[in-house]
Amino acid sequence: MKMKEIKRYTVTSALPYTNGPVHIGHLAGAYLPADIYVRYLRAKGKDVVFVCGSDEHGVPITIKAKAEGVTPQQVVDKYHKIIGDSFRDFGISFDIYHRTSSKTQHETASEIFKTIYDKGKFIEETSEQYFDEKAQQFLADRYITGTCPKCGYDKAYGDQCENCGSTLNATDLINPKSTLSGEQPIMKSTKHWYLPLDQYQTQLEKYILEDHKDWKTNVFGQCKSWLHQGLQPRAVTRDLEWGIPVPIPGTDGKVLYVWFDAPIGYISATKELFGLKDAAWSDKHDEYYLKADRKPQTSAASWEEHWKSKDTQLVHFIGKDNIVFHCIIFPAMLMAEGSYIWADEVPANEFLNLESNKISTSRNWAVWLNDYLVDFKDKQDVLRYVLCATAPETKDNDFTWKDFQSRNNSELVAIFGNFINRVVVLSHKYFEGKVMPMGAMTDFDKEVIAELQSYPAKIGASIENYRFREALQEFMSLARLGNKYLADTEPWKLIKTDEERVKTILNIGLQIAANLAVLAEPFIPFSAKKLASMLNLDNVSWDETGSIDLLKAGHQLNEGVLLFDKIEDDVIELQIKKLMDTKEANEVANKVTVPAKENITFDEFSKMDIRVGTIISAEKVAKTKKLLKLTVDTGIDQRTVVSGIAEYFDPESIIGQQVSILVNLAPREIKGIESQGMILMAEDADGKLRFTAPTAKVKNGSEIR
Ligand SMILES: [Zn+2]
Repeated sequence: MKMKEIKRYTVTSALPYTNGPVHIGHLAGAYLPADIYVRYLRAKGKDVVFVCGSDEHGVPITIKAKAEGVTPQQVVDKYHKIIGDSFRDFGISFDIYHRTSSKTQHETASEIFKTIYDKGKFIEETSEQYFDEKAQQFLADRYITGTCPKCGYDKAYGDQCENCGSTLNATDLINPKSTLSGEQPIMKSTKHWYLPLDQYQTQLEKYILEDHKDWKTNVFGQCKSWLHQGLQPRAVTRDLEWGIPVPIPGTDGKVLYVWFDAPIGYISATKELFGLKDAAWSDKHDEYYLKADRKPQTSAASWEEHWKSKDTQLVHFIGKDNIVFHCIIFPAMLMAEGSYIWADEVPANEFLNLESNKISTSRNWAVWLNDYLVDFKDKQDVLRYVLCATAPETKDNDFTWKDFQSRNNSELVAIFGNFINRVVVLSHKYFEGKVMPMGAMTDFDKEVIAELQSYPAKIGASIENYRFREALQEFMSLARLGNKYLADTEPWKLIKTDEERVKTILNIGLQIAANLAVLAEPFIPFSAKKLASMLNLDNVSWDETGSIDLLKAGHQLNEGVLLFDKIEDDVIELQIKKLMDTKEANEVANKVTVPAKENITFDEFSKMDIRVGTIISAEKVAKTKKLLKLTVDTGIDQRTVVSGIAEYFDPESIIGQQVSILVNLAPREIKGIESQGMILMAEDADGKLRFTAPTAKVKNGSEIR
């Protein structure tokens, strides 16, 4: 483990891909933990920049544009806004939310490519690549699918298998197919530039296996396995139109590989941020999702200090699917370039599941952040709290709506909210909202204060070690301590007999509340702000917490407001129903049509006598679930038919319904009733039955043929 003196921090969150909105899995994986970490660093007074932006190049965007009949630029403009809005609405406090289609990014990525190229570090190679003759296009990355050679998954992409997480080359795929035309592609030769990762194997081994044994087990393990397999040269250019053009002459129709381009987005975002730092700060904040009221907390004179100084700590927050790109490929690029620092920490999270199923954009199995805020207005902190409490830090974890409800009701409302409400309300009731001086302390008071004093360091240490769940638990333990202190001392009873003692109790309670306001800020910033405003408390730094002197005697509190409210069962049931509807819709969409039966002759067909009839009476067959006893006017006669449709129709509602009825089916006895014929029904993909009847009323007995 390398110990260095840290002068400043550069913190990044994975660039979200701009082909759809962001969901809770994204938030829990790379954005919420980063935001907690950065808010903590700021509260500690550290120099830090927190950068992110939209990843706007690559094949899925061109595929989406084609499917929607718009340009790739229109696709990225749309989702850049939706995603940026979601992050802002959830309080993800980026110093800048940039985008990779920007001019700064084009220049920066080109410069880095050019430097590596000029140093002669790329390998130039002409090779056979898949080409779609119909579409007249080379098939990079997601333009091609096939069977993964590692796990056998049949929908692996040309660059990655989403089932086993393997990084692939298109030529590795078994049974490759073009996603443009569905055709089997041909091989055609084309020239590309490769980053020879094998030449950096030794340097990467030292960097990771020796110097970063401290990395999280999941991250270290994945890197070790990659290095153990032996690294191979990796193409960093593609035959595509959409992207950053390869910055060397004679390379028309070629762009930088999106994974070469994307991580450089962190650098260009920082550059852009420093470009804005002094000039026109607040004018531009809309475009970059900047907060006009908060400049980045850094004394660095230039962006270079955040990317090239050895005393900068570079931290990438990502999901586990991005580990190889951030721990091996990006550092290798920067090693080849020569002037940048490499990641110091890569606290990648595992995946968050939803109600025991993998979150999936294509199957719409997700809780979208923009939808959440429609259904749970102003409850950003509840989601932040639950996602932090259940974050997939060491293994995949599950988000359930029941757990969401229970954590809100039994933790945020019943413990934290209840404590704050009590201490503020009682202070207003007994002392006109003034902080009373502390009198003589009991041993119990002293114990509680000693415990209070231990929390800031405990919470801080957990955050510094990227154990955000543990940090949040410690935070809640302090809220629990406050709640228990009031429950045990019962100031509402004592007020009648010992007002002096109540002054001390409420003073201690309010000091705990003030500490909570500061310590809550990284996790639940909206509620922290409300609480600070209730307490009339401002600008207390993390290092001042642990004190019982945050609120001076005589200090005036503001009116109390409720921090959290109970979430009722019906609200949760609605969310669960939404998901169940999605599941059903998916099942219907995936249902395969039954193949055609064997041919029959016309004679065979004409043996069937099908007529239009009308149901004239209907009743349930006793002791059965599915059966209705119907009387049908067939035009020939009135007859009894037993039909298995009781689960779909109420008897009263179908009287007068015209139906198709097979009248010459041999009668048979069902539950003691002779059934004379069969009503023809259409069965929908979800199993629901519908009558097949003429589209306008016809005379009973009319033949169907
Ligand atoms: Zn696979």
